[in-house]
Amino acid sequence: MANVAEYFGSMVFDDKAMRERLDSKVYQELHRTIDDGEQLSISVADAVAAAMKEWAVEKGATHYTHWFQPLTGITAEKHDSFICPSPDGRVIMEFSGKELIKGEPDASSFPSGGLRATFEARGYTAWDPTSFAFIKGKTLCIPTAFCSYGSDALDKKTPLLRSMQALNLQAMRVLRLFGNNDVKKVVTSVGPEQEYFLVPKELYARRKDLIYTGRTLFGARPPKGQELDDHYFGTIKPRVLAYMEDLNDELWKLGILAKTQHNEVAPAQHELAPIYTTTNVATDNNQLTMEIMQKVAERHGLVCLLHEKPFKGVNGSGKHNNWSIGTDTGVNLLTPGETPYENVQFLLFLVAVIKAVDEYQDLLRLSVATAGNDHRLGANEAPPAVISIFLGDELAAVLDAIENETEYEGAKKRYMKLGVDVLPQFRRDTTDRNRTSPFAFTGNKFEFRMLGSSNSIACCNMMLNSAVAESLGQFADILEKSDDFENDVHTLIRDTIREHKRIVFNGNGYDDSWLKEAERRGLSNLRTTADAMPHLLDEKNVLMLTSHKVFTKAELQSRMEIMLENYVKQVNIEALTMIDISYKQLLPAIETYLEKLLSNASMKQRIGGISAAYEEKQIGKLTDITVHMDDQTERLEKLTEKLASTDGIIAQANLVRDELLPQMDALRAYADDAEAIVDAKVWPLPTYGELLFGVR
Ligand code: ADP
Ligand code: MG
Repeated sequence: MANVAEYFGSMVFDDKAMRERLDSKVYQELHRTIDDGEQLSISVADAVAAAMKEWAVEKGATHYTHWFQPLTGITAEKHDSFICPSPDGRVIMEFSGKELIKGEPDASSFPSGGLRATFEARGYTAWDPTSFAFIKGKTLCIPTAFCSYGSDALDKKTPLLRSMQALNLQAMRVLRLFGNNDVKKVVTSVGPEQEYFLVPKELYARRKDLIYTGRTLFGARPPKGQELDDHYFGTIKPRVLAYMEDLNDELWKLGILAKTQHNEVAPAQHELAPIYTTTNVATDNNQLTMEIMQKVAERHGLVCLLHEKPFKGVNGSGKHNNWSIGTDTGVNLLTPGETPYENVQFLLFLVAVIKAVDEYQDLLRLSVATAGNDHRLGANEAPPAVISIFLGDELAAVLDAIENETEYEGAKKRYMKLGVDVLPQFRRDTTDRNRTSPFAFTGNKFEFRMLGSSNSIACCNMMLNSAVAESLGQFADILEKSDDFENDVHTLIRDTIREHKRIVFNGNGYDDSWLKEAERRGLSNLRTTADAMPHLLDEKNVLMLTSHKVFTKAELQSRMEIMLENYVKQVNIEALTMIDISYKQLLPAIETYLEKLLSNASMKQRIGGISAAYEEKQIGKLTDITVHMDDQTERLEKLTEKLASTDGIIAQANLVRDELLPQMDALRAYADDAEAIVDAKVWPLPTYGELLFGVR
């Protein structure tokens, strides 16, 4: 394999490729669109499309697709070939600016929550020039936004881009007040750390639950789990390493900055983290990374599980969203600066985030709510469903001093007079000790840790960007009118700390006492998707999101419905899969084993004088289990029928939470008991032990 630096980005129509292949005038015009959002003229679009096609065809591409992120949670693509008949009966490869800019997939089967009446079912896709086109297989993929004809967003990219715009607008107002006149743009950056499991493909193929739902719906505890913590950062097995190397190569070719890899806490669990980049690109890259992780696994005889909780009793998989705000001049606004003025600016941005997270806890919580993630949040491996911010002792002490107008007991004892004193640099080793916080300040960025491994990072970032834009907008409103800036900014920071300090918690987030304390503080604790999602339509949330033009009211309404629909459908599929496995695989297996026990017992009786006590005991236990299992399966079946005849998405979601999920647990408990005593040779499902320790 050639040198990484040579093939890195070779499958991306990136800035280097553009500069090489576009006429300099076209290149500059395209950059005005990329950097400043200016409208692209059709002649420039034609020139870009022609160059893009030529590049792609040279790399072996035959098709192109508008690649988008509908609300199903995965990416979508419809391939069109470049071929165009020529008069001599052959074909030429063609691609126009119009085809680059706009697509019209027959999108009537994507979820729209009623936004797209059937007569205008053909939503359209629109090129996002801020994310580079790339080649996957033989297809040129063009990152696009997906909207209805009435311009309602039907995807995750559109609101994310709008939220980045909103944040830019408000942050620029604040920066101007500090005299940063050279800054033209503020962008948020994200580095998502992605966890996943690898299991042997042949075992996966024998589990309908993994195939249909991505998680095991049955499975007794193995003799060894993760209790020894011997997997975390352990030596990576050769087969897994070969997978990781192959994966890195694929990602690097696509210009994705895969950087670190290591084993995680659970057996068979691993993590990949890229170097951070602009939120929009990071989102596209993360979607692509998840897809390629699964594809590369196939080649290695493995299956990559991205479900949040594939195994009961074993840590689930999350995703950490490392987020920061920076300027186009290269300044990270979440880093304390060198001068007192920069420090005030840092503190103002910091308290803007604190205020945003406190006021919109519910939006952040619901942005990561899925049926899968509900199994994780609040179990003692992931942050609780309660949102709080960890600042670390040093920064907490600074805020304390500001709030109480007392001396700051830092490295040197000093009075923190804003605008005069220089803040200490917060090194990450003093800020990153707490791994139990859902939202932690880690030196120069915030790390949101509630995401499930399969969540799109678009969802939480659109909420975070919007909420911070709202704080900054309010700050700018106050400060733009001020005629004593230094004094007023100080008061503003102090008052914001006073008002929102309840969201700051530096203790152990996994502790039960924290939940009680959080309740005393009035923090919200939305335990499930059914609890969280309806808050999307709370008046304060609608007001904030619409005023920053991130969503329209109709879009929010439809999104809430789609998200709850996804939740209900997913759990319903799980229930149906359980019923299927219970009736067709597990109960028959238990019967087979019972048959053997019965025949052994009767043989022993026939011979006489040999005790059949063992068989009789097992027969008693298993008969009892089969009666219960059959009964529990039947109850579950009735509940799926009840769900099918329940009207209204809220009522359905509540039924799922209150009845379906508990019933699934009840059925599982009996089946897992059976697994623990039935002959391994007749048990039809590969065990937890085999799945978790099977990759060698
Ligand atoms: P860990 O959290 O595993 O100890 P790091 O904190 O070094 O590791 O990095 C985790 C992720 O945070 C990486 O994806 C990294 O690129 C990203 N990251 C680092 N700095 C920033 C930043 N300023 N803004 C956004 N993401 C960042
Ligand atoms: Mg981290």
